[in-house]
Amino acid sequence: MKEIIDELYEKNDLDEHRLLYLLNNIDEKSREYLTSKAHEKRLKHYGNKVYLRGIIEFTNYCKNNCLYCGIRGENKNAERYRLSLEDILDCCNSGYRLGYRTFVLQGGEDPYYTDDKLVELLKAIKTNFPDCAITLSIGEKSYDSYKKYYEAGADRYLLRHETASKKLYQRLHPNMELENRVQCLRNLKEIGYQVGAGFMVGIPGQTNEDFVEDLVFLKELQPHMVGLGPFIPHKDTIFKDEKSGTVETTVTLLAIVRMLLPDVLLPSTTALGTISPMGREKGLKAGGNVVMPNLSPTTVREKYMLYDNKICTGDEAAECRKCIENRIVSAGFSLDLSRGDNNLWSRK
Ligand code: SAH
Repeated sequence: MKEIIDELYEKNDLDEHRLLYLLNNIDEKSREYLTSKAHEKRLKHYGNKVYLRGIIEFTNYCKNNCLYCGIRGENKNAERYRLSLEDILDCCNSGYRLGYRTFVLQGGEDPYYTDDKLVELLKAIKTNFPDCAITLSIGEKSYDSYKKYYEAGADRYLLRHETASKKLYQRLHPNMELENRVQCLRNLKEIGYQVGAGFMVGIPGQTNEDFVEDLVFLKELQPHMVGLGPFIPHKDTIFKDEKSGTVETTVTLLAIVRMLLPDVLLPSTTALGTISPMGREKGLKAGGNVVMPNLSPTTVREKYMLYDNKICTGDEAAECRKCIENRIVSAGFSLDLSRGDNNLWSRK
């Protein structure tokens, strides 16, 4: 095991047989070694900094029906909401005053926000907060739409591929195609965004072979960011009685991703913090270097329920920032409130 992990550390690469061997045979001791090497790698490329991004969940309307997701269009129990331009600017404002210099706008795929509305929103944010980065996470759009958002000021785009296994992807996403999603990611890269792909860990039916496909896909795509967190069941989905992904597997995969893509921006996710009280700290110690506290108004937090028991739904932005800051510092990291772009990126 040690040899394989050392090879991964030295070459920032590992063939698929060895990746599978690693995943199939990892035990507590080798996981400790793996995470310590990932931590070393992160120190080399980003020091002990953790970047903070304020996330604004601006709509939970969605036209898609991803089987695992609490805000899937057909979930009649989800109470829907949308934030207005003013609401969103208010969130940015309080975020800015708390020191945030990246705003992540995330939502379901909501046709109410036409390209014109989104362009207006992006321009308004850029005019008011010119020193901030804007990240979009609003699903699959055409090349032209992505280009309009980029020109209006969006800098980054998060679009997890969810799973690179075609079979599993198809089972989970009615009327969607893995090829489209991958094409979207390629389009975003070509336009010039900092691009985030990523996947869920522990989806019912997912195997180590599937994870190898995810890792090989990421190595090939070379995204600037990778969003990787455990699957967690949601009460209104067919997966309501299934188990969540585990901290151990999530941490293992975070560590491998840090070594495959040494310059990647790698969040330690809310989902990881939800399945275990010290989950986010464990993610940071396995190569994670980003945390995304919530800036959404507390009145809508409970409605953006992708999965059950999501944490931090009651905290005001300021409380949230303080709590997270303490935790990050206690875990031995330093907070970085700058835009925190990927080392290898600049705007074209
Ligand atoms: N509509 C946007 C944003 C989706 S929500 C898009 O298509 O990209 C953000 C992420 O939450 C998803 O990419 C998915 O990976 C994750 N997610 C959704 N349901 C989840 C669940 N039940 N457990 C864990 N993560 C979930």
